[in-house]
Amino acid sequence: MKKIIIAIDGVSSGGKSTMAKDLARELGYIYVDSGAMYRAITLYALKNGLIKDKGVDTDTLKSKMDTISITFSFNPETGRPDTFLNGENVETIIRGMEVSGYVSKVSALDFVRKAVVVKLQEMGKEKGIVMDGRDIGTVVFPEAELKIYLTASLEVRARRRMEELIAKGTPSSYEEVLENLISRDALDMNRTESPLRKADDAIVLDNSDMTIEEQKKWLLEQYKRAAGK
Ligand code: C5P
Repeated sequence: MKKIIIAIDGVSSGGKSTMAKDLARELGYIYVDSGAMYRAITLYALKNGLIKDKGVDTDTLKSKMDTISITFSFNPETGRPDTFLNGENVETIIRGMEVSGYVSKVSALDFVRKAVVVKLQEMGKEKGIVMDGRDIGTVVFPEAELKIYLTASLEVRARRRMEELIAKGTPSSYEEVLENLISRDALDMNRTESPLRKADDAIVLDNSDMTIEEQKKWLLEQYKRAAGK
């Protein structure tokens, strides 16, 4: 079958990365978690004192963009890529609540988005890629052969995120997680620069009541249809 681009967008903690990672493994495709890039830039800003109560020091962050290197390296233990910021493995810390609390502010900055989009497009040049995020089907790869827009109820998403944080050894309260999801979704959907929205040709999946196995089966069927065209 021909190699295609698969774009999986949707709300926070909707299960995009689980779906994307599993499909990529099954197909021998590359999996790219675009959110990790925004998270790594946010961590850089936090570490360098560029995020204060007042907000982000955008001038300094803009001037430092060329010095920020984000790379991925497959981790066979987790079956997904670990994220490296300027050579340091930051996979665990970028998933924590501090980065989650600021990432949607940083990802709304136009110069941040431009830099990340160029990198993401580069990664998809050869196709054979599954990428998840918020603007993959609308901005990064509007020509993607398969676009999925994933959603699930807020309660289900908050529970999943809590389980993820517990598994990573950084537990958080249900209220804190819920509040973060609500505020990130609102910021992501209402920003001026490439807001989160369903691409006109995306297929919507609400996976609130689905098992991972059911989702896998559904996604594989969508892939076969799209790649077989
Ligand atoms: O996917 P994840 O929840 O890790 O993404 C973290 C944040 O990065 C999102 O809340 C959003 O603000 C931003 N993001 C984005 N565009 C993408 C991927 C993520 O704006 N393609």
